[in-house]
Amino acid sequence: MQQDMDRPGSLLEGAEGILCDLDGCLISGDQLLAGAVEFIHAYGDKMVVVTNNSTDSPGSLSRRLEAIGLHIPASRILLAGICAVEMIAGQSPGAQVFIAGTDEIARHAEAQGLALVTDTPDIVLLTRDEKFSYQTLQAIIGHLVGGAVLWVANTDRTHPGQNGHPVPETGTLLAAIRSCLPDTIWEEVGKPSGALYQKALDLLGLAPEQTVAVGDNPDTDGEGARRAGIRSIIIGGDVTGARSLADLLPVSDFPVTGDGNIGSEAPAKTGLNDD
Ligand SMILES: [Mg+2]
Repeated sequence: MQQDMDRPGSLLEGAEGILCDLDGCLISGDQLLAGAVEFIHAYGDKMVVVTNNSTDSPGSLSRRLEAIGLHIPASRILLAGICAVEMIAGQSPGAQVFIAGTDEIARHAEAQGLALVTDTPDIVLLTRDEKFSYQTLQAIIGHLVGGAVLWVANTDRTHPGQNGHPVPETGTLLAAIRSCLPDTIWEEVGKPSGALYQKALDLLGLAPEQTVAVGDNPDTDGEGARRAGIRSIIIGGDVTGARSLADLLPVSDFPVTGDGNIGSEAPAKTGLNDD
C-alpha cells in the first residue's frame, strides 16, 4: 500500500481510474455510508465499482443502489458472481454447470450459453446462495467426488450487514464443502484473486499504475490490489486514518469539518456517466 503521508485521499486526485469496493465503503446493507454520494460526485467519471457480491447482476445492483440514492450505471459495476459466470463461459463454452446461487446468476449463465444441470455437471459454481441447504451440500459433494470442477465466486466468510451484523458469505458455504472434502481445490474469481481488478483495468483501458483501489478490507481489497500491481487505500482501519469515503474527498470541492462530516457546500446531485 502506498499513500500520500499528509492526506489519504490525495492519491485519488492524480489517478486516472478508481476501483471502489461496495460493501463497507459505499453501503452497509441498504444504508449509504458517510461520503458515498459525494465520493461518486467527485470521482464517478473515473470510477468502477469492483465487488465480491455474487448475488446481483449489474442491472439489479444498479437499481438497488438507485433506490437508496446512488446513481451507478450497470456498465460501471463488476461483480464476482457475474464475472465467474463469464469466465466459465469463456473458458468452457456450453459447459454443463450446477449453480448454487440466485436466479440472477442462473439467468446470466443461460444467457452466456451455459447449460444448467442438476446431474453430472462439468462444473459446480458456488456463489452466495441464500437458499443453500443440506441437500445442496450433499449434491455438491457428489458432483465434486464425481469429477466436477469447483468454481467459487469469492472466499469471504462474511460481509458487513446492517447494524454491524456479519452476513454469511460464499466462503462460509465453501467451508462446509471443505469440512466434508478437505482436499478440495477450486478456481476463485473475487478479490483477493486478481481477476476482478484485471477486468476493471480492461474496462477502463488503463494500466495498474494509473489506478487506485479503494476498499475496507486489507485481506481482500488490499491484497487483491497488491497482486494486480494497483495502489490501494484501505478505509476504516488504523493504517490510513481514513474512517470512511468522506475522509477521501477532495478538500477544495468538499470541505470536511473537524468531525469528518461533509460541509453543507457538498452538492446534492450525483451521478456517473454511462459511457
Ligand atoms: Mg468491503
